[in-house]
Amino acid sequence: MKAQLCTRIDKIENHPLTYTTVEDPKPEPNEVLIKIKACGVCYSNLSMIEGEFKELFGIPSKLPIIPGHEITGIVEEVGSSAKGFHRGDRVGVQVLWKTDGTCEFCLTGRENLCLNRQTTGETRDGGYAEYITAPSSFIYRLPENLGFEESAPLFCPGVTAYRAVKRANVRFEQKVAIIGIGGVGHMSLQFAKLAGAETIAVDRDEAKLKLAEDIGADHALAADKVEEYIAKTGKPDAVLVHAPSQKAVEQALRIVKRGGTVLMGVLGNTRIVFPEEYSVVGSVIGTRQDMNETLKIASMGKIKVDWTPYKLSEAEDVLIKLKQGKIVGRAVLVP
Ligand SMILES: [Zn+2]
Ligand SMILES: [Zn+2]
Repeated sequence: MKAQLCTRIDKIENHPLTYTTVEDPKPEPNEVLIKIKACGVCYSNLSMIEGEFKELFGIPSKLPIIPGHEITGIVEEVGSSAKGFHRGDRVGVQVLWKTDGTCEFCLTGRENLCLNRQTTGETRDGGYAEYITAPSSFIYRLPENLGFEESAPLFCPGVTAYRAVKRANVRFEQKVAIIGIGGVGHMSLQFAKLAGAETIAVDRDEAKLKLAEDIGADHALAADKVEEYIAKTGKPDAVLVHAPSQKAVEQALRIVKRGGTVLMGVLGNTRIVFPEEYSVVGSVIGTRQDMNETLKIASMGKIKVDWTPYKLSEAEDVLIKLKQGKIVGRAVLVP
């Protein structure tokens, strides 16, 4: 099959990806083989390729590796003990490729934190390819009314945003700021609205603020204007940070209301002072339940993915554009 292989950790401009032919993956008895129809391009793919995650999380755990972890496709082959799916079924694969099912987190409904989790495109080959295998217990049926390309981003930004908004405890009477209207941010904004909150979208980029307005943000503000605005109108109860920037994290800590919540949707490496009570909360992808709930909400038409298709062969160019902040919504690779 054709695939984008990450052969070494390096800056994306130095071409660490090779578009090449590799052997087709073979499903284990408990797995299915999926013919990939679409795979979203995530900022964390870029962070992994450039080595940011190596020291922190030990990923990628192997090289070469095929990146990509928000995947939709069609079941092509079913392993002898794989259950619940048939050839031809429309399915998706999320970041959580598999868990051990036995650790304290798996046993307490928090399998996204599994001590032995395997993650798609990070510890296992991912979706920048024509085929992937996955355990039948960790794939999801695509709702009939959702297309392959539009729904691929539900499998990372969608579920990540859904869990983030739940973790931030967003409620209907609240005011919520979302900093960074990228792949995850544009979905968090919609989930926060669905939860009934008044939403403030914050970004440096005008095209992303325009998108925020199109998908229903109550207010859309440039990052350098937001503090002035909040000084006049009051601080938000929760701030969700989805911009991969230290400045964004620091701004969130400055603007959150006393007693409020800062949800870290990105890595933060900053000094956190607690002059008043507030909570800083992390959120990491989502469980199978979160994923199924996200798909259900999307199939009800309550959230909309903004996406643009690119060819699989263009992955490196797309990642460069993403790094430069030039991708609005989600870029989706199509083999
Ligand atoms: Zn992702
Ligand atoms: Zn576990």
